[in-house]
Amino acid sequence: MAMTGMQIYKLLPRTNCKDCGLPTCMAFAMQVAAKQKALDECPHVTEESKSSLSESTAPPMKLVRIGPDEKKFEFGQETVMFRHEEKFHRHAGLAVRIEASLSDEEATAKLKKVNDNVFTRVGERLLVQLVGIEIDGVADPVARVKAIVGGCCLPVILIGSDPDTMKSVAEAVKDERPLLYRADEGSIDAFASIAAECKLPLAIHAPGLEALADLTQKAKDAGVEELILSFDGEKVGDTVRDLTKARRAALKKQFRPLGCPSMVEVNRGTPEQETVVAGTFAAKYAGIVLVNGVEPWQSLPVLVTIQDVYTDPQVPNTVEAKLYEIGSPDENSPVLFTTNFSLTYFSVEGEVERSKVPAYIAVVDTEGLGVLNAYAGDKISAEKVVKALAEQKASEKVKHRKLIIPGLLPIFRAEIEDTSEWNEVIIGPESAREIPTFLVNTWKS
Ligand code: SF4
Repeated sequence: MAMTGMQIYKLLPRTNCKDCGLPTCMAFAMQVAAKQKALDECPHVTEESKSSLSESTAPPMKLVRIGPDEKKFEFGQETVMFRHEEKFHRHAGLAVRIEASLSDEEATAKLKKVNDNVFTRVGERLLVQLVGIEIDGVADPVARVKAIVGGCCLPVILIGSDPDTMKSVAEAVKDERPLLYRADEGSIDAFASIAAECKLPLAIHAPGLEALADLTQKAKDAGVEELILSFDGEKVGDTVRDLTKARRAALKKQFRPLGCPSMVEVNRGTPEQETVVAGTFAAKYAGIVLVNGVEPWQSLPVLVTIQDVYTDPQVPNTVEAKLYEIGSPDENSPVLFTTNFSLTYFSVEGEVERSKVPAYIAVVDTEGLGVLNAYAGDKISAEKVVKALAEQKASEKVKHRKLIIPGLLPIFRAEIEDTSEWNEVIIGPESAREIPTFLVNTWKS
């Protein structure tokens, strides 16, 4: 039976040392009881207390780490079915498959594409997070995997079905902490023994959730500590149903054999279908989605889906209202203003950066609304803009008195010119993407 916060508190050191990141042992105990913290996040808990607490306080879904500390990918330890109930704790990861049979040049070219797939959106870097190396049928798998791992800055999934090959490769690169993918009914004993010996995470697949639960129990009994439920994405509807059922069984019913994060392999259909299907699984509980596609147009939609689904609803979608310096602006640089809605600000910031014209951006507090919504909702006015510029001392940064305003608010022009020191208001573009052309052509001229 689950323990209460008070029962857990009695077994803690009760020193309130804060090493767990919380102000008191009681706060920590309450979070452990609510499954929002794992017991081992208190570094001072005794072994005796651990054994009394471990089973009843273990999070319903285990945390799994792939890769060494310096490039680890962690997922799992989720606590809710729906983001609005609290938040999703760890972003899902996009993994791209590379065949170990590729030549050095081909593998390097593919890895370069993977590494180049970095996008910035709403101030966040979106990138492919894992590489899956396919080792079946490769002549010298150890050498090939070592060569690929050597040129790869991402954590690795070893994809193979033959236990002997997997054993030799796993032993050779175990310091990289690869995920072994994947064991099934026929290979569970051999794969579990490799994972237990090398202390590596193991992905397990079975037809149906009952069979999957049996296999995870087998692997646990063999000493494997980090397990992943693996689903094939052949039938999209069935896979989404299984992902959802497994999560519900773990979180709502505390069914330990399914208390592991999940991954889905997408290995069929056209590149377009693969992208759509991968995004679907990422949105619906797959902690890792393994795909073949490496082109930016294939990665970006999946990464954006992950970003949207995993955004923390408890964190306001705003940036601080202050004067931002983009590049190294000087006294002749342009001054723009925008709102504190993250998406608006980062769109403007990104385009100013792209223009290569150093600039100041004054951010006006609009309670997280974009330009038009802020205007419609009376959250921005010429008066408020003037006040924000004064508070942010924008005029002390430049010797001119020219202000670029969003093209969606031309109505502010006269009032700003009449009521402030900004006596030359320039109406900028309506859309952020036109900012580079505007700054390079209109501003500079
Ligand atoms: S680290 Fe442990 S002892 Fe220290 S405050 Fe947290 S729960 Fe208490």
